[in-house]
Amino acid sequence: MEAMVLVINCGSSSLKVALFDTSLNKLAAGLAERIGGPDAFASLTGTRDTLPLATNAGHKEALQTLIDALRAQGLLREAPVAIGHRVVHGGETFREAALINNPVLSAIHECASLAPLHNPVNLVGIEATRELFPGVSQVAVFDTAFHQTLPDYAYRYALPERLYKDWGVRRYGFHGTSHSFMASETARLLNQSPETTSIISAHLGNGCSITAIRDGASVDTSMGLTPLEGLVMGTRSGDIDPGLFDFLRSKGINAEDLHRLLNHDSGLLGLSGETNDMRSLCELAEQGHEASALAIEVFCFRLARYIAAMMASLTRLDALVFTGGIGENSALVRSKTLAHLSLVGLSLDAERNRDHGKQREYRIESGDSRFRILVIPTNEERVIASEALTIARSGASH
Ligand code: AMP
Repeated sequence: MEAMVLVINCGSSSLKVALFDTSLNKLAAGLAERIGGPDAFASLTGTRDTLPLATNAGHKEALQTLIDALRAQGLLREAPVAIGHRVVHGGETFREAALINNPVLSAIHECASLAPLHNPVNLVGIEATRELFPGVSQVAVFDTAFHQTLPDYAYRYALPERLYKDWGVRRYGFHGTSHSFMASETARLLNQSPETTSIISAHLGNGCSITAIRDGASVDTSMGLTPLEGLVMGTRSGDIDPGLFDFLRSKGINAEDLHRLLNHDSGLLGLSGETNDMRSLCELAEQGHEASALAIEVFCFRLARYIAAMMASLTRLDALVFTGGIGENSALVRSKTLAHLSLVGLSLDAERNRDHGKQREYRIESGDSRFRILVIPTNEERVIASEALTIARSGASH
């Protein structure tokens, strides 16, 4: 029986698992959703059966249900050799993935004030996994770690220093596993060394962020202290004027309402009034729905501004890279975005852009573009599996 690596991504009401062999081939995946609610369920990808979860089931029961299902399918006969957890915030403590032990758990706890919605639930997932697989090496892979190479002038906000010194208020950046994967995949595809590869990586999914990577290291990124800053996202506003807080307070909107407004009711959903889903927005826009068309325009314009802004951190550019559900699949978003960037010298080949995916073509720039433009599918779970395996094997601890 071949050794396995388990990857766990624990959200506030969801839990995703993926099972890899040690050559990093994905063997199975499963998902539990609406955990804690009356309609909680779990299922394995590729099976029709949904596995019911009790209303009061927590993350541990959801994980147990998914593991039992993997076992019943004969996919997991022995304990995995390593377990990798996605952990959202590693603060300034974690510059790389870490073997989980008690000091590491305490440090993740300490970072929880920076990500109160994410880190506590990541810890619940880690605890549940420890109980189910005692003795198996568990590794925390942080969304923020890749961005710890940002220079101070890129990560500091123009705020009084005490906010940084006392409370850690600075830019951290997120989606680090995806952006670092883009850097290594670009280097591989272009046959270059990762240490000398410089790219702009646009991760466009439900959450969106863009990163400048110079010689393999992150040097600027659009998400900040929290994953709210930067690009327009599915339901998140991205950048807004901080003066909005005062203005809305004067209208009687309290902190809780403001949180909901900016995180859950804004972005593509807020602009269109219809949906946070880019594919649906494209269909609506085609049918003449004006607010949906505007949502797409705002999304693409903000993205173009950020692509140009990321150039300030680079001295050469090997490629602009698109990834994530939108970046990989929406030729319309890519072409509308690039239409703003002709002065910069980035230009698309319309046919390659449209046909990307059909012929597995990853280069979509035109012959006269100053820079390459690539589309590369992201694979965050595989990166987490790879890091978990490497660290578990080396037994290295943070
Ligand atoms: P992700 O979070 O990476 O799964 O990305 C989800 C986003 O990708 C959603 O907004 C989807 O509508 C969008 N998406 C997926 N496929 C397409 C497509 N063919 N065209 C436009 N958007 C798409």
